[in-house]
Amino acid sequence: MNVSHFLLHYGELSTKGLNKKAFIQRLVQNVNRALAGPFPGLKARGDNAHAYVPVEEGTDFSSLLLLLRKIPGIQRITPVLRVGRSLEELQEGALRAIEGEEFSTFKVEVRRPDHSYPLSGYEVARALGGTILRARKGAKVDVHRPERTLLVEIREKECFLSCRTYKGAGGYPVGSGGRALMLLSGGIDSPVASYLLMRRGLVLDFLHFAAPPYTSEAVLEKLADILDVLAPYQGKVHLHVVPFTKVQLSIYAHAAEPYCITLLRRMMMRIASEFAERRGLPALATGESLGQVASQTVESLRAINEVTTLPVLRPCLAMDKTDILELAKELGTYEISIRPYEDCCTIFKPKKPKTRPKRDECRFFEGKWDYAKEIEEAVEGIASYKVEEGRLVPLRKEKTE
Ligand code: ATP
Ligand code: MG
Repeated sequence: MNVSHFLLHYGELSTKGLNKKAFIQRLVQNVNRALAGPFPGLKARGDNAHAYVPVEEGTDFSSLLLLLRKIPGIQRITPVLRVGRSLEELQEGALRAIEGEEFSTFKVEVRRPDHSYPLSGYEVARALGGTILRARKGAKVDVHRPERTLLVEIREKECFLSCRTYKGAGGYPVGSGGRALMLLSGGIDSPVASYLLMRRGLVLDFLHFAAPPYTSEAVLEKLADILDVLAPYQGKVHLHVVPFTKVQLSIYAHAAEPYCITLLRRMMMRIASEFAERRGLPALATGESLGQVASQTVESLRAINEVTTLPVLRPCLAMDKTDILELAKELGTYEISIRPYEDCCTIFKPKKPKTRPKRDECRFFEGKWDYAKEIEEAVEGIASYKVEEGRLVPLRKEKTE
């Protein structure tokens, strides 16, 4: 079809009487930020009913659609042709709208948000149906199960014609739901979890635990690439890297091997909580998924959660790995995540990790050394970066109390 605009439907937003204006503004701002790189000529506008992206001659529609479909807060995307309100303009527009569309049966559906329009919906549908029948020999009207529906929306100043609509990402615009600290590993799950939370409106700060020299510097490049993929959804992205080697070595020096993973997670949670509290971030988030590995049983989660009072958001918790993989591929993080690297968990992987760790056992092992001091050092040693065009740029250390 010929397209002049992409119409973005707000979906869930429409039910939010409160703050609707702020939500729309946020969405339009987010769309424009996402467009800025790949489509510098395009700019979205929004009104109470929809947001629009006017498209230019030569725009690559399929990549534009692919991009728009990932932006949180958009329920549906409809490519439309904008025409004037006279019947002649509608008739001529109808033919342009169906250009290149293959169908043998069709119907015309008319919506009249502008009730003052001189013709009824039925009259407009009949006139346009006639126009299409004359132009398309062999085509038939089928009002029950048409292969194609030409949708006509008559508005106060213009009309929109469309014959296809696409599902959007849904959710809320990023930035409309507060902040959280995401534990980003470099694996497949945590980038997917990040996107799912952004889709609920959250803006994320990212925390990574590095254990040099056991983990390589290359992981930072990998994280930068992952964050470069996620950045268009929220704009500024900050990555904080925790020097975790000392804590990790202490765990392996003092705890029985099957407990190491649980203790590792407990230490990660403690460090993340402390850092989040200092930054005023009210929640933590991970890519954990129930049953995926030994440390992701309900008993493990209980032992891990015990050390923090912050809520821990786990959007992948009940997802199947195949669905996580599929989403990672759609997002474009999968190919980056599967690059080999030494993770701080895989390197010291215990042979038989405890699937039902006991909390008093955890405390028993933790009583063997002054871990609080090491945690304090780790938090103090966190290096922060901003991600700029896929590169990590160090940030000056902020003063924290
Ligand atoms: P995978 O796709 O291999 O499962 P993953 O990221 O889920 O990767 P897990 O070992 O399953 O890795 O870890 C569970 C969660 O713990 C991760 O999703 C992440 O949120 C957090 N995590 C693990 N290792 C790190 C790390 N080195 N730095 C930050 N967070 C981590
Ligand atoms: Mg995992």
